[in-house]
Amino acid sequence: MDNTPLLGNVTLLQGSRRFFFAVTPKETSFSKPGDVPDYLNEAVPFFLGAIALEYILAFLADLPRARLNDAFSSVSARVYSQLSRIIVLSAELALYVFVYDNFHLVTLPWDSPWTWYFCLFGVDFFYYWFHRAAHEINILWAAHQVHHSSEDYNLTTALRQSVVQQYITSIFYVPLALAVPPSIFWVHVQFNLLYQFWIHTEIVRCLGPLEYIFNTPSHHRVHHGRNPYCIDKNYGGTFIIWDRIFGTFQAETSEKIAYGLVHPLASWDPIWTQLCHFSHIWKTFWETSGVSNKLSVICKGPGWTPGSPRLGDPADLPEIEYPIQKYDNSLSFCGTMYVLVHFAAAIVAYQLLIARKMEMTQLHVLGVISYFLYTISSFGALFDNKWYAQYMELFRCLLFLIVDLFLSSQNLDTGVLPSKYIGMIRGIFIASALFWITGSFMSTKNTKTE
Ligand SMILES: [Zn+2]
Ligand SMILES: [Zn+2]
Repeated sequence: MDNTPLLGNVTLLQGSRRFFFAVTPKETSFSKPGDVPDYLNEAVPFFLGAIALEYILAFLADLPRARLNDAFSSVSARVYSQLSRIIVLSAELALYVFVYDNFHLVTLPWDSPWTWYFCLFGVDFFYYWFHRAAHEINILWAAHQVHHSSEDYNLTTALRQSVVQQYITSIFYVPLALAVPPSIFWVHVQFNLLYQFWIHTEIVRCLGPLEYIFNTPSHHRVHHGRNPYCIDKNYGGTFIIWDRIFGTFQAETSEKIAYGLVHPLASWDPIWTQLCHFSHIWKTFWETSGVSNKLSVICKGPGWTPGSPRLGDPADLPEIEYPIQKYDNSLSFCGTMYVLVHFAAAIVAYQLLIARKMEMTQLHVLGVISYFLYTISSFGALFDNKWYAQYMELFRCLLFLIVDLFLSSQNLDTGVLPSKYIGMIRGIFIASALFWITGSFMSTKNTKTE
């Protein structure tokens, strides 16, 4: 069983080990960055399997389960940040290679386990400082808050990533480029991200002595809490030792953690999720008087107000009200099925796009990406029960059919969907367009309590 390749040459055992960083330097050292496997994309089937398993275990253990609207919002954020990588290559790697090629001071051998271990701690050390800055500097928080905007805490939360964050982390990793070869760096950046997937869960409560060294689900739950005792704590990626050394460690207590932002987002709109805090800073910047205060709005903590300490006054943090209220606008059964079918079609097409991006023209890729972005926004509007959602969907279905008709009349392959699926996909889009034309409406149920 363990030797059966699931995707490419990744076996079940290999794929599972990678999540826990249980890999050896020998099997993950390469001379050139181009030789480094795309560990994150290879992990996609394992992500999905783990999410399904967590859902079942949460059901059996009577723990909070992933909600479709929230999971949709997290997966959308992931798609957005991945798509930006297709357009603007991987920023971490591009900047790193540039600095290494031009400015490196020593050349650590790529095939030495010492280089590998040095880089393991190096990447996590700089990740700690990136992450701490992302919480303590308002303009960086505007990017990172996307990850914290979920009011749930489960494996799907790990997928909720900011589009701009990767460009910020790349700057923090630059000092490593003075010595560590890009190939080894690239392996560790990917494993650091992979490791951070499985710690987003309520299923694992305590890992005994491992809690002293590693960033665990328990430590990271505290990091995601909006309870006053959780704010600005536990920034580590793989290790928790940096928090213990630099004084930002906080162990989990018996107080029930309320997840999410201090001022909840209350929207499933994926574009607004990415932009809301930038807009908030822009408004506050102009409302605040005095040059030094304006600069503080950008550079001090998100909770800072004139006259308060750099990271804001802890007394200003609202206490948690129980039972915890979550934003929970959602769809009828029919609407849910609709989004599931279309979302599955979009995700399949998205995976195919990544696999085939080299064969497609730049314009083709841009066109398909714009359509994806529009699709996700349209689903967000459906979940939020916006009045214009049905018009967005009608336009989306018609646009697909028109482009499809045009490509077929030109005898062109759509380049994204294999021809054997196109009949089925066409059927779904025609039925959907008719559904919106006949003006069927979605029902809504509002905020529920946990
Ligand atoms: Zn964070
Ligand atoms: Zn997290």
